[in-house]
Amino acid sequence: MSVPPHQFSRIAESVDVPLLATKLVVVVGVGTVGSQIACELAKSGVGRLRLIDGKDLESHNLPRHALPSHFLGHNKAEALAVYLKGCSKTLRVEAQPRYINDSLSDRQLDRVLADADLIVAATEVRDVQRRLGRRALSLDIYALFPALYAAAGAGEVFVQRDARSPCFFCWDGFRTNEDELRAVTAINVEGWAIISLAVQLGLGVLDPRSRHADLLVAPPNQWRPRQLFVHQPLAALSIGPVEHRPTCPSCAVGPPPRQTWTPPRGAPPPPSQPPPRQPPPRRQSSRRRRRRRIHPSWIRTHMLVVAILTTAVAIARPELLAGVGHLLALMGIGLAVIVAHIIALVVFLIWVDSA
Ligand SMILES: [Zn+2]
Repeated sequence: MSVPPHQFSRIAESVDVPLLATKLVVVVGVGTVGSQIACELAKSGVGRLRLIDGKDLESHNLPRHALPSHFLGHNKAEALAVYLKGCSKTLRVEAQPRYINDSLSDRQLDRVLADADLIVAATEVRDVQRRLGRRALSLDIYALFPALYAAAGAGEVFVQRDARSPCFFCWDGFRTNEDELRAVTAINVEGWAIISLAVQLGLGVLDPRSRHADLLVAPPNQWRPRQLFVHQPLAALSIGPVEHRPTCPSCAVGPPPRQTWTPPRGAPPPPSQPPPRQPPPRRQSSRRRRRRRIHPSWIRTHMLVVAILTTAVAIARPELLAGVGHLLALMGIGLAVIVAHIIALVVFLIWVDSA
């Protein structure tokens, strides 16, 4: 279904609406954070959403959830799908009322995720987050990991890219499974900073030429794109460095990247390994080149020829060997033969060089 030009006319300058209309975002966990991220992505022009959650909407969810009260008792994913269809005529949204747990094999989970352009791991279960990170890396799909800290108003968003960059576990591996990632006492507005950040980062991933992608651009003098965004109330946004964790079990899952990442505007090019310096070619003198042309086998051949000629002379004129004078004469003949061959060899090499 084409996008009506008037529906997104007010945001058409900020994002590529036709491009976003083709994108599918899988949101795992549509609670406080996931439901509002899904709503904002739909309002920003994302064309397809797949919502996954096994929980029902309860009354204590209402103060911090995108759904109104008449959905109480309904599955969160199914209810949010119905709600969002009413908000946008062009949105294609599907719901899967299920948990991502051990009953779902990796192959089954991959079928749920495989066609996504972006995965939002908004579940509060750390093991599920890490598993989604591994599967996203294996499938070479970008993934967002939003989290609210226990301190009200604080939180983080981690952007997992491909196998070239540190994965979610590279950053999150220091935490234990018991660490609380949800600020259960925070009012809804205190989570807006993280929700807003996650939506903008998601749009930056989906639309690399949008201004939202500038958030991911590497800082000066670095080439690796930004991945970790930490927000503290009344403090500037902190963008921390993340390094590959040695022997990271999640990074070991990922295959070589198949996606070609389009750098956002202004991004510096990745460093390229300079080619190894080759020593300059050594100029050889003509004399050296000529010397190298004299093969050792030639010398052996000439020595053999000299020996044969000397032997032939000794057989034909044995009287020459009768005395010392004869021996000197024989040596003179042999020397003359050697000189003649050297002269012939030099003449031959000069002829080869000039040819
Ligand atoms: Zn890793």
